[in-house]
Amino acid sequence: MSCLFCRIVAGEIPARQVYADDYAIAFLDINPWHPGHTLVIPRRHTADLLDDPSALAEIAPAVTATAALLTERLGADGLNLLSNAGEVAGQEVFHLHLHLVPRYAALPGLRELTVREPDIDLDEIHRRLTSG
Ligand code: AMP
Ligand code: ZN
Repeated sequence: MSCLFCRIVAGEIPARQVYADDYAIAFLDINPWHPGHTLVIPRRHTADLLDDPSALAEIAPAVTATAALLTERLGADGLNLLSNAGEVAGQEVFHLHLHLVPRYAALPGLRELTVREPDIDLDEIHRRLTSG
């Protein structure tokens, strides 16, 4: 199996998972733009939104549940939802994924979607999202 995200679904590569249901899993992005940046992906392989018209509806409940989790547990004031479809759109991993990027009024880079905060502690954020 060569697809990185299929291997995460299969448990062959570790990920900081924060949500799972029958159709989708969600895990922290390894290179977050803002604290809590999460990827929601379908369990079954499809390359992108254009590749399979039914995939988005299948993972929609996971997106909604993960958005609620991120705002409630991390105290985000809002979030961005984004999916890159195709290399020309900036896609780097060719297994459909939706970026859920929590946004915080109090943090710097307020207006920048892709500002990387150097001090994001992924393990601490994962703990806050999964404890209790
Ligand atoms: P895209 O450019 O939309 O294809 O985004 C791919 C995303 O996957 C990037 O934000 C990467 O940081 C993220 N990513 C790549 N490898 C991993 C991994 N092993 N675990 C979590 N996120 C990853
Ligand atoms: Zn895949």
